[in-house]
Amino acid sequence: MRALTGVLALVICLTTFASSERARAADELVVQPVIGGNPMRCYDYRGAVVRTLRTSELGDVGRASIIARMPIISLDTDRLATLPAKMQVFFYMHECAHHVLGHVIRPTLESEREADCWAIDYGRWAGLFTRADIEGFAPHFASSRGSKYGHLPGPERQAYLLKCFDEPRTEGTQAAFSR
Ligand SMILES: [Zn+2]
Repeated sequence: MRALTGVLALVICLTTFASSERARAADELVVQPVIGGNPMRCYDYRGAVVRTLRTSELGDVGRASIIARMPIISLDTDRLATLPAKMQVFFYMHECAHHVLGHVIRPTLESEREADCWAIDYGRWAGLFTRADIEGFAPHFASSRGSKYGHLPGPERQAYLLKCFDEPRTEGTQAAFSR
């Protein structure tokens, strides 16, 4: 009965979501978006599929969030279009990492760096990134100042990404960062 109650609650939430002003957005939630020419998938820390919403005026390239219990990656189509294909993949994987690592429900000061390294690790493992791909991010990070939420200033972030690539994690991102 408990399980049934849970299902009912989810159905009610989804119904509320569908009937709200976000109904149009719900229609545009994609399970397998094509990012930089690659069909991508993301599953969160519970194994739930993360859907992607292409939007505009997001204020950032991407954002990870939970809307009506649905894990979502929002991507700013205009900002994304200014970036090379591999960097588009990187930003998608970075937002995916926030879902994989549970940052969407429990963010920490390390979240941004952890998501960066997870994205690079995964991309390297999946054969999506070469070292030259990561080196190619430099011009795009050069003028970025970072943020008080933990994004490193651009040149430092670039160096950190290369470090993540060169030293695949075995003991966690924080340990890798302090070496
Ligand atoms: Zn982030």
